[in-house]
Amino acid sequence: MTDEAKHKCGVFGIWGAVDAAQLIYTALYAQQHRGQESAGIAVSDGQMLHNHTGMGLVADVFTPERLRQLKGFAGIGHNRYSTTGSSRRHNAQPLMERYIGGQVAMAHNGNLINAELLRRSYEERGHIFHTSTDTEVILHLLASHHLTKEDPVAEALHHLQGAYSLVLLFPDRIEAARDPWGWRPLVIGLTEDAGYCVASETVALDAIGAKFVREVEPGEIVTINDAGFESRRFAEAQQPAHCVFEHVYFANPGSILFGDNVQLVRERLGETLAREAPVEADFIIPMPDSGRSAALGYARQSGLEYREGIVPNRYVGRTFIQPTPSKRRYAVQLKHNVISDIVRGKRIIVIDDSIVRGTTTRGKMEHLRRAGAKEIHLRISCPPIRYPCYFGIDFPDRSKLIAHDRSIEQIRDFLGVDSLHFLSLEGMLSCVTRPREHYCTACFNGSYRLNVEHPVSKLDLERHQLKMFS
Ligand code: SF4
Repeated sequence: MTDEAKHKCGVFGIWGAVDAAQLIYTALYAQQHRGQESAGIAVSDGQMLHNHTGMGLVADVFTPERLRQLKGFAGIGHNRYSTTGSSRRHNAQPLMERYIGGQVAMAHNGNLINAELLRRSYEERGHIFHTSTDTEVILHLLASHHLTKEDPVAEALHHLQGAYSLVLLFPDRIEAARDPWGWRPLVIGLTEDAGYCVASETVALDAIGAKFVREVEPGEIVTINDAGFESRRFAEAQQPAHCVFEHVYFANPGSILFGDNVQLVRERLGETLAREAPVEADFIIPMPDSGRSAALGYARQSGLEYREGIVPNRYVGRTFIQPTPSKRRYAVQLKHNVISDIVRGKRIIVIDDSIVRGTTTRGKMEHLRRAGAKEIHLRISCPPIRYPCYFGIDFPDRSKLIAHDRSIEQIRDFLGVDSLHFLSLEGMLSCVTRPREHYCTACFNGSYRLNVEHPVSKLDLERHQLKMFS
C-alpha cells in the first residue's frame, strides 16, 4: 500500500435534475476515495445558489435533512483531500462567492503551481482572501476580468499554470474545464431523466445511472444549461500529461480513465511485473486492498496460487484518511492482521502498488516475519517514487521518500525482505494504451512537463497568510 501519501479531490456537477442535491450526494459517495477530509455541495434554484460544506466523509457531512434543505435542479459537489491549504472547514469546497457577475461556486481537482504568485499580486492590490487554497485565486481572476473580457472564464484560465479539472456553478449554468495538459480526469455523462453531468471519474456516472459521453478535452470548457451542452476551447491542447499514478493507485478500479479501465490496467501491471521479476515461491499474497488487482495479474502470468494472507480490519479507515503522521501510525497498526497458519514456513511473493515512505511497508514485512514467513519477495507494480508531485498528489517532501536517495538494495535492506523489484518505467507504460509521451511520469523520473522552480507546496499559502497577519 502506498503509505503515508498523497490524494487529491473529486468533483461533480449536474444540470436539470429534479433533486440535484441527492444525485450529487450519490456521485460524491462513489468518488469518496478521491478525498475524505471534507465534502460539499452547492445547488442552483435558477435564481440563487445555496451550499453546504463540512469536514469528514460525505455521509457524515450530509444528513437527509441537510440534503432536503439544498433545493435546486442543478449543482456541483466536491470531495476534498488537502493538496494545498490545510484540512480546515474554511478550505472545504465548493468555494462560493458573490462578485460583480453575481454568485459563483467552484470545485477544483489538481494543483496550480503559480497560485502563490497570482495571489501575491492580488493581495498587493488590496484583494482579500478567505481561504488558504490555490483554488480561490481563480475566483479573483474571474472577478477581475468580468467587465473587461467577453469570456471571463476563459480569460481566468489563461492565467493558470498547473493541473485543474474545474467545475463552476452559476445560477444559470455549469462551466466545466480541464487544463491544457489533462493531468486530472474529467468526464461528461448524460442521465436518462436529468440532463448532462460532469465527474472526475466514470464510477460517479455509473452510481447515478448516467451514460459516459466523452472526456472533457484538455484545454476545453464545456457549458451545461437548459439548452444541453456546448463546447469551446480556451487554449490549444498541449502534449497530454495524464497522471499515470491515477492508474497505479488512485482511481477506482471500476473507472474508465484516460481511455483504459483501471482494473484491467492494474492486472496488466501485475502480469508485466511477473515477466520482469519471476521468483520461486509457494504462493502470492496481495497487500490489501492496494495490491489486489496487480496480484491477480501476477498470479495469472506466473501460474502461482493467489492467496489472502493479510486480512484488513474493515472497521479501520484507509490509513491516509488522517493527514497527520501520529494519527496515521495508530491506524496502520490496527489496519491488518497476518494469518500465521497461511504464511508460516512459506516462501511468499507479496504484491503492492507502490511505496512512498516505506515505514508502513516495513511494519507489514516485520509482521509477516513474526508470523513465520520463510522468504518474502516484494514486488511493486510501479517504479520507485523519487520526486515530488506538484500536480495534485500529496507525496511527502522529497527527503521523506524512501527511494529518493537509496538504491534498490538499500531499500530492500530497510524493508527487511529477501528480494525486491519495482516495475520498470517502460513496463508500466506498456500497460496503458495511449502513447507513452501522453502520460506524466515526473514522480518516477523527475521529468516535469512545466517549470516547477517555484511550486506551491501544500501549506505555502497558509504560511503566506499567517505571515501577513503576524
Ligand atoms: S508527478 Fe506522479 S503523481 Fe504527480 S501527476 Fe505526475 S505521475 Fe501523477
